Amino acid sequence: MSEKRRALEVNKVIGGAIRKHYQDVQQNRPLAYALLAPDPMIELCYAAGIQPAFPENYACVCAARKVSGRFCEVAENNRLLPDLCSYMRTAVGSWFAREVEKLPMGGLPEPDFLVYTTSACVTYYKWWDLYRFYFNKPLIYVNTPRIMDEIEDYYVDFTMKEIQRAIGELEKFLGKKIPDEKIAEVVKYSDQLVEYWHKMLELQKTVPAPAGLNDISNILFLLVALPGTKEAVDIAKQAYEEMRERADKKIGNVSDEKHRLMWLNIPMWYNLGLTNYFEDRGCAIPISDYTNYIWGVPRLDKPDPIESLAIKALKGELNESVEYYIDWMLRDIKEYKLDGVVIHSNRSCKVLSVGLLDAAKIVRETYDIPVLIIESDHTDDRAYSDAEVKTRIDAFIESLG
Ligand code: SF4
Repeated sequence: MSEKRRALEVNKVIGGAIRKHYQDVQQNRPLAYALLAPDPMIELCYAAGIQPAFPENYACVCAARKVSGRFCEVAENNRLLPDLCSYMRTAVGSWFAREVEKLPMGGLPEPDFLVYTTSACVTYYKWWDLYRFYFNKPLIYVNTPRIMDEIEDYYVDFTMKEIQRAIGELEKFLGKKIPDEKIAEVVKYSDQLVEYWHKMLELQKTVPAPAGLNDISNILFLLVALPGTKEAVDIAKQAYEEMRERADKKIGNVSDEKHRLMWLNIPMWYNLGLTNYFEDRGCAIPISDYTNYIWGVPRLDKPDPIESLAIKALKGELNESVEYYIDWMLRDIKEYKLDGVVIHSNRSCKVLSVGLLDAAKIVRETYDIPVLIIESDHTDDRAYSDAEVKTRIDAFIESLG
């Protein structure tokens, strides 16, 4: 590793948790394909002894192993349009390629059923519908209203009823009751995890920032894939303590922090080294919308655990208005003492790319700080040009002064 940046030690533990998750996916039954958070079905799966598997995370794994472009091609050869999100094309393409390719982590086995919450983007509707049709397995889902501003009580009431209905369907499928105490226990663990997460994001306001964007994205795995487990709480505690110690001692992820940037949109999973490229040039990235806004991650500390799960289902950038997040971003530019913004205009993810050009204009007008816009894709690396992107980053860093 470069002497200019120091990754968190806890990354090794998280790497172990990721490997264990994929072993569990190979071994444990019943197996449900699930969305990443904000999906209360994940906690319900853990409460019911169901093993969730996450096609979306699996697409990230394939990208990190540099095979996502290949799987996108396989999906396109099987009639998925190139305009569909590359998460979907990678995960579905890996299934079609399973008999002729060696799949990272052994691939995702066929699920016993599918779970889903509608507060995510429209891609998922069709993606999970394709799985339902292809595997001919039940789909159990929570329907949520679209939120534009505040979460009104009637939204919460409606979503609680949906969660209760989904619990009933899970119990029917499993042929047994999911004990209320078990649901309360997983929600308690989930809340403890969120509490540590909030504290870690707060520590990132320290100058120099204790963790880098890759560190925080790694820790996010706990929030999106293991919420409701004690294992996730224990690792989050370890991550928080390491970050707090660094913050107390003024040890930064970047040893010579000159600039502080915000990253907008999903990172390019096939090239996480791009973050290192910034860091090696004295640019810390303490915050991104991907880590701080997209997943919502509210506390789950209501007296009724079902109410906590309902609020979780309703929060998140995918279910709220663009204006709401632009206001949040403007506030955070101040609070995190940022002097530049990097926007990834992501060809695959229209839902997170909508409004980004407006965001760039508003940031320039409000704070008069440089904004870099990179056009690429988060998982499909076939159109990515490293040399071109780095030339633009060099010019951007010069403009930071
Ligand atoms: S379009 Fe965006 S939000 Fe939807 S699945 Fe793809 S990356 Fe996720």
